[in-house]
Amino acid sequence: MTRTVPVSCPMDCFDLCRFLVTVSDNRIMDIKGDPAHPLTRGIICSKGRDLIQRHSHPERLQHPMVRKKSGFVRTTYNEVLDLVAATLTSVHARWGPAGVLNYTSDGYGGAKNRVQSIFFNCLGGDTRFTGSLCWGAGMAAQTFDFGDVRGHLPEDILNSDLVIVWGRNPKATSLHFYSLLKQAEKNNTRIVVIDPIQSDTAKSLGTHVALKPGTDAALALSMAHVTVTENRYDRSFVQDHILGFDRFCQYLDRFDPETASRITGVSPDTIRKLAREYAAAKAPGIWMGYGMQRYASGGNTVRSIDALAAVCGHVGKPGTGANYAARSLAPLLNRPEKNSKAHVTASRTFPAPMLGFLQAMNQSHCRHDTLPRQSIKTADLNAGSPQFSLLYRVVFDHFMTDTARHANLVYKPAVFEQG
Ligand code: SF4
Repeated sequence: MTRTVPVSCPMDCFDLCRFLVTVSDNRIMDIKGDPAHPLTRGIICSKGRDLIQRHSHPERLQHPMVRKKSGFVRTTYNEVLDLVAATLTSVHARWGPAGVLNYTSDGYGGAKNRVQSIFFNCLGGDTRFTGSLCWGAGMAAQTFDFGDVRGHLPEDILNSDLVIVWGRNPKATSLHFYSLLKQAEKNNTRIVVIDPIQSDTAKSLGTHVALKPGTDAALALSMAHVTVTENRYDRSFVQDHILGFDRFCQYLDRFDPETASRITGVSPDTIRKLAREYAAAKAPGIWMGYGMQRYASGGNTVRSIDALAAVCGHVGKPGTGANYAARSLAPLLNRPEKNSKAHVTASRTFPAPMLGFLQAMNQSHCRHDTLPRQSIKTADLNAGSPQFSLLYRVVFDHFMTDTARHANLVYKPAVFEQG
């Protein structure tokens, strides 16, 4: 029987396209974008379309696998549930809930994304990491600066008279955002792309400003320097909303355009012109990528760009903002997880980049302040490839990856909800 099933794209992507998937005898025959989706309007990217190949890939696991002395053998979901339940029960009895390491990462970003955390919360807790290896420094930066990470909706760029695409290549990574940029350019919105390389986006849109990798903060601070020294900043916004403005101005003394030019490789004239243009624009929006915060002091790079937007008063109005991540819906989507924390009786956390230390902690007496010494006895390794000497390892994956090969049990999840 052939039927069409509406599902969300499971990729870790902001666009969260809705698909209409044609299924026949449990085989996916076709994946199309849903034309009724308000943002993506039926257009999906090749990563979404290629999920059909992932689903029917000959090496994709077809069954859960359990490790025996002879190697991995096929098992049943009932046996998986029994094994995991028995292991969790024995770990809890001996070490408590925090004896379980719940190591997961992102994928599908909808309401069910946190179901694993809800499960462990309801079981009393676990050991899990805080922060992120991907966008964490920028998230922390914006939380410091604005109290939260609330990007504007992508469509808001149609309210901008200037858009700065900073360290981001939406032509390759976000086709729906790129379409909006094209539409904005057609409406006479000026587009500036700041990127060390001439990306596909930089080739196709507006003006490209090339800077040396890792020098974005110096460029932002120099633009702020020009804005302040030429008296182009927004006095009333500064007075009402900025803490530490005088100290910030003292710090800016080090970033006159000539000095910043030596750091960034951008000419002093270009820095001045860009700063004046940004300060004078009525509704300029900055849209950042993640690469710039994956350097030492990367969080401060995002903070420098936030500060530039703030001194110009380009925050909190349509078309503006220092947009880094779209987390406006997160409080709503994360509510079930938050509520489930009421069941937690024991939990431990460690910063995500410290994961490698867990191995050392299990085998030595290495200590980390946020993680009391206690053996981790069961690992739920849903992403990454740590190779711990643990008692029992459970991996969820579509393929027998390097990480999965180290597991005791490999659970085959669905590509989509239906299979
Ligand atoms: S743009 Fe591509 S990867 Fe992103 S949600 Fe849509 S189909 Fe999935």
